[in-house]
Amino acid sequence: MTTVRIFGGGIAGLTVAHELACREGFEVIVHEPRADFGGKARSQFHGGLPGEHGFRFFPGWYLHVTDVLRRIPRDAAATQRERSLRGYPEAESVVSRLREVRSTLTFNRDQAPQSVLQIPKSIGEIGEFLQGFQWLVEGLDASQRLQVLQHIGLKLFLFYSTPPWLRAARFDQLSLAEFLGAESLPKAVQQSLKTVPRALVAMDADGGSAHTFLNASLLNLAPAWRHELPRDRILRGPTSRTWIEPWVASLRALGVRFEQGDAGQAERLIVENGQVAAVVARSGARWQADVTVLALPVGPLQKLVRDSALSAAQGEEFAPIAQLDLARQTSEMVGLQLFLDQPLTTQPGHLFFADSQYGLTAISQLEVWDDEFVQPLAERGVRGLLSIDITQWRSDPFGGHPPRFKLPIEIETGDELRALVVKQVSEYRLASGAPLLQEASVVAHHVDDDIDLASEENRSALLVHPPGTWSRRPPAKSSVAGLFFASDFVKNPADLATMEGACSAGKLAARAIVELHAPAAPEVRVHELLEELEPPWLREQQHGFEALVQALGSFERASRAVDLLLDAGDETFEALRALERAPERLAESFRVAGLVRLPGVSLLSQLQHGISKLGARVLRRLAPSTYRSPETDLERVSKRLRRVSAALAAIR
Ligand SMILES: Cc1cc2nc3c(=O)[nH]c(=O)nc-3n(C[C@H](O)[C@H](O)[C@H](O)COP(=O)(O)OP(=O)(O)OC[C@H]3O[C@@H](n4cnc5c(N)ncnc54)[C@H](O)[C@@H]3O)c2cc1C
Repeated sequence: MTTVRIFGGGIAGLTVAHELACREGFEVIVHEPRADFGGKARSQFHGGLPGEHGFRFFPGWYLHVTDVLRRIPRDAAATQRERSLRGYPEAESVVSRLREVRSTLTFNRDQAPQSVLQIPKSIGEIGEFLQGFQWLVEGLDASQRLQVLQHIGLKLFLFYSTPPWLRAARFDQLSLAEFLGAESLPKAVQQSLKTVPRALVAMDADGGSAHTFLNASLLNLAPAWRHELPRDRILRGPTSRTWIEPWVASLRALGVRFEQGDAGQAERLIVENGQVAAVVARSGARWQADVTVLALPVGPLQKLVRDSALSAAQGEEFAPIAQLDLARQTSEMVGLQLFLDQPLTTQPGHLFFADSQYGLTAISQLEVWDDEFVQPLAERGVRGLLSIDITQWRSDPFGGHPPRFKLPIEIETGDELRALVVKQVSEYRLASGAPLLQEASVVAHHVDDDIDLASEENRSALLVHPPGTWSRRPPAKSSVAGLFFASDFVKNPADLATMEGACSAGKLAARAIVELHAPAAPEVRVHELLEELEPPWLREQQHGFEALVQALGSFERASRAVDLLLDAGDETFEALRALERAPERLAESFRVAGLVRLPGVSLLSQLQHGISKLGARVLRRLAPSTYRSPETDLERVSKRLRRVSAALAAIR
């Protein structure tokens, strides 16, 4: 038996426990200081009212979380090891607790709300999806709009033409705003752009990495070409009731043990002779095991590394963790639930308050919850539940000087926070003109337990991926023998700090542990999300690009080559065909020269000019005012890209 101690009972820690407990040969113990499991994803019940740390959504690309949900029985008494490994029939598993939603209702003050497609399910729906972003260019004239769309489109084209394996090196050092060259866009667009990343995760365009945000954005669109994937899903009840509690109960049934309270809190790691000797808990217990997993969020992980004096001498991953600037790495994004004495007449799904002061997004819960969760609330007079994420609540998201909206720092209670948020939400109107929310209808509220407004401490700060973070994140397998990392902070295929990130990181750790300690057991499957889910035509485009990078020896040279190829259009293909026939010496000198340089023109201008020519062609077709049939246009564009890739590949 291999003894495995997992510190941290959030999604990552529970995933590791699940993967090991459903295979033979592991004795698994999960250590968690809190009374409840689930970490940031747990619900928080007070006086019978279900609060959440923040509402939960599950986009179609969450392959790892969905896999785990299929393998948890709704009824723990039905737990079977084989089924926990292979999966239960849908109706018997907690995956049946998810409900697909189609659209987001976007609110702007002084405007009727707009129902926007949340995630397209076909290439044809991409047009409808893009219409949802019209508000970004609201107030600009037609030519400015085209210019802005073209500018952003070109940048996106450059990003997605770069193969996933090269993107971290190229783009993680840049913020989204820097990568998009936002300073050259009209002020109003710059301001609106900031709110888009906030709707996805508490990232901000100035502070969040272009690499993380743009990868996640493309994954979000995957159902447009992977039709078997759902758009987006939300839970049919409180997260803990529908998912975490059945999960923990089924893990117990599989033999997993749990240590909670002070015995569950890791305070120090003792490393001797290159391996873990013990973990010292707050209770003073010294826990020993064959395998130790740290499934801790970034803050507690840093504290543990520092308190244990782990340094480069033990492994190269420790110094970057110890040196992280946590104030920059994390955000105070937090959940607030409003319990109402009347139903909200909106729609099942997301609400996005595009110009709200504190970056508010929400879900109106009761329309999607199962009766068993709605009924007890109705009996207490609660007929509506608005679950809000406050993504930016200490400063002005629009960066005005002086700040137009600044949460008074002297706020010390949840009541004051509630009053400020309710005031903001009450300013939005339904299509009928009636206010979305009447202040008087709020009968109770819940602010996340982990936020202490008086001391301004957030005990569950969320990673927000500032530029340069990727290279500082540790891999699942550490340099110390027997020590593994899990949690959304670990380098994982989802990248973005989400439940999917945590779950895939947990699977990475479990895979490494199984390979080492139970090589005959079934492998733990980890998806390369980007490689698997990016559209096939983009893959082809990238393969051409990869070939070019190899042939020319650097990304910069390859970028210039693409620019020149695109700029020259059909003549380029003629030239390439001629080149293929040319003597090897000529081809060689062409490569060595790093491609022809246009006289009197800087390389940067060449690049910009070339990309903008192509982009103009693409975007004129995609721009909402001109396109007729997005499917045909995209097909044409993708054909062209395929030709370019083929030509580039032929250069080698
Ligand atoms: C407001 C909000 C809304 C969100 N909404 C979504 C969403 O809709 N969809 C989505 O996918 N993601 C969402 N996220 C992100 C998601 O919740 C997290 O990325 C994910 O839950 C992280 O899981 P984890 O296991 O890595 O870490 P955590 O959830 O932080 O779990 C870590 C566990 O470790 C424990 N721990 C801490 N210190 C120690 C110690 N010293 N010893 C032992 N244990 C310790 C903690 O108590 C905790 O239980 C949201 C986050 C926030 C803040």
